[in-house]
Amino acid sequence: MIDQATIDRILDAAQIVDVVSEFVTLRRRGVNYIGLCPFHNEKTPSFIVDQSRQNFKCFGCGEGGSAITFVMKMENLGFADTVRRLAEKAGISIVEEVYDAAEEKRRKARTALLVAHKKAAVFFHRLLLCSPKAAEARAYLNSRGYGADMAKRWQVGWAPDSSREFLAWARREGIPDQVLIDSGLANRGERGDLYARFRDRLMFPINNVYGECVA
Ligand code: ZN
Repeated sequence: MIDQATIDRILDAAQIVDVVSEFVTLRRRGVNYIGLCPFHNEKTPSFIVDQSRQNFKCFGCGEGGSAITFVMKMENLGFADTVRRLAEKAGISIVEEVYDAAEEKRRKARTALLVAHKKAAVFFHRLLLCSPKAAEARAYLNSRGYGADMAKRWQVGWAPDSSREFLAWARREGIPDQVLIDSGLANRGERGDLYARFRDRLMFPINNVYGECVA
């Protein structure tokens, strides 16, 4: 989180004409500057930079906004990264707001889900490799031409056939019921009792590009 006062200071210091000039050749026209729009193909300039308002507008394609918007679009950067980059150029140090209650709550909830998924992947994987009860699952994998190497490489697992075994494991791991439900690993029955969503199944953990187990 970057506070608004810092963003305003950066916008003041950045000078949109300087920012845009790094990408577009601008000519002065009256109080404004004009050039060929970088966001669409044109031969006659319809891209206007308004110095007094510190914004830009293309009358050809409709793009417009502040120096921040311009850099975001040109460099394909997110808002925070763009602000950081402009601040660096302007020699302004950024005050980042470290605490945001709602954001903190979201982050914690997400972390809890990731932890549950990661632990479940390890649990299921160990069962597939070692549990006598997973013999049938192992035999099935073998029948499809996959051995232990593949299972280890992809952390393939086996969900136990009883809800009780899964839930006992979850309790031992200290995973709250609500996290189990939110993660999709468990559901609540009509009478409100918790049961494992996956039973007697091969399990394939899905990781995102950061290596976090997300499903
Ligand atoms: Zn345009």
